[in-house]
Amino acid sequence: MSKTPERKAQDTSTFEIREVGNVKSVQKFIVFATGLPSCVSGQMVEFANGIKGLVIGFGEEEVQILVLGSASELRAGDEVYNKGKFLSLPVGENFLGRVVNSLCEPQDSKGDIVPKEHYPVFRIAPGVMDRIPVKETLETGTLSIDATLPIAKGQRQLLIGDRLTGKTTVAIDAIINQKGKNVICIYCCIGKTYSNLLKILETLGEKNALEYTVVVSGVASTTPGEQYLAPYAACMLGEYFMYNGKDVFVIFDDLTRHAWIYRQICLLLGRAPGREAYPGDIFYIHSQLMERGGYLKPELGGGSMTFFPIVEIQQGDVTGYISTNVISMTDGQLYFSTPLFNKGFRPAIDLGLSVSRIGSKAQWPAMKAFSRTLRLEYLQYKELVQMTQLRATGLSKEAEASLKRGEAITQLLIQDKNKPVPMEEEIMYLYALSLGVLDELSAPDIQKFKKDFLQKVQQWDSSLITVMRESQELTDATIERLRRSLQRYFEKE
Ligand code: ATP
Ligand code: MG
Repeated sequence: MSKTPERKAQDTSTFEIREVGNVKSVQKFIVFATGLPSCVSGQMVEFANGIKGLVIGFGEEEVQILVLGSASELRAGDEVYNKGKFLSLPVGENFLGRVVNSLCEPQDSKGDIVPKEHYPVFRIAPGVMDRIPVKETLETGTLSIDATLPIAKGQRQLLIGDRLTGKTTVAIDAIINQKGKNVICIYCCIGKTYSNLLKILETLGEKNALEYTVVVSGVASTTPGEQYLAPYAACMLGEYFMYNGKDVFVIFDDLTRHAWIYRQICLLLGRAPGREAYPGDIFYIHSQLMERGGYLKPELGGGSMTFFPIVEIQQGDVTGYISTNVISMTDGQLYFSTPLFNKGFRPAIDLGLSVSRIGSKAQWPAMKAFSRTLRLEYLQYKELVQMTQLRATGLSKEAEASLKRGEAITQLLIQDKNKPVPMEEEIMYLYALSLGVLDELSAPDIQKFKKDFLQKVQQWDSSLITVMRESQELTDATIERLRRSLQRYFEKE
């Protein structure tokens, strides 16, 4: 140990060591150290063997340090250096297409990453005056979201649901759908298994989505310190792009596990447990993260950061501590339902329990026009289905028409995984629905229509898609062109 300080002094010639303290005791991944009187919370320290630590609290006579690496080699009496620096990590364009851990060190076999600069991990969120209202839509490629629960760039939308209800799939589909749309994506994995992460990497690779994505891995096999840090590191990587005027989309998968890790850390620190044994500041831990998303004003580059935090619940109960906290700090939630998932209605988003509070302000006018009544029609249909289960005969004409319309909507909303649909195509479906031509079709015919129609339109009227994307609204001329294509499709049928 004695030769370490000299070696360190050479290694870190650009740093000034302000204080040298000593490890008093080590408890799993927490170190209690003495002799660092000028430390502040959120600051970085370094141990003699080069491992970093984060100051997360203070006792009467000691500093509490969360070890960001393996604590197994640390012993009482080891030296710990305070360099007077807040935790900052490398960022830059070179992180695109890479898998990194929470310290931004590469985890794939693609070699070192040359950073552009260093950013603070715990940056203060932009203030109200630095932001502007949302104005652009983030296309998720999932019809039920884009039509009825639209997401805007800069919005924070919670994905909440039981285990295995397709939460990650919807989020990953949104990443796949950003191809060619100039949006930087960040997937942050917290406390999930390594095999979960591998599957996601495989999907992203297959769809060529990795090139505009950074994956931050805080999988269950990493240390608690790294898992705790993962969402902040992901947010920091996103901030680099946001402050450089880019649109960023970040997924935190998932915050329940992040809360569990923080609970573990705090119990080891001896902090008083509160509701569900979580520490008192768990709300702050998540809200300081959520606040960092938003849409910056043009003077600050005009970038945006959209968040999709994921929260796992049990038996559909949204009243848990973490879920109610995160619901209150986001701009809406997508509720994933197990019964719907088991019935084959996938993505299993319950339109009755989901909301998007700000997204509709930024929705494409064309989408807005056709989706206005969709959610209501669908919810009324669900009610009607329940009623008709009791009394199946003697339905009025209106009720029969509503049932048919509802079935057509259901078929439109069902979507296979990893096959996001472009917005123009979604608008075409909804236009066909509004004309009523889908009401008489059987479920397989509607699925066939969804599979074939876009191809046919490209064949018959190749510029229509481009016109729709550029104008984002449907003029009389475009509607006429669309109507002609539909007529031709159904005549052929
Ligand atoms: P976890 O709780 O493990 O995080 P989750 O809610 O994120 O689960 P996913 O992992 O996204 O759920 O999906 C669960 C399973 O359902 C996966 O095997 C996935 O392939 C399948 N699945 C999800 N969405 C669809 C879909 N739209 N169509 C068909 N299969 C789907
Ligand atoms: Mg998941």
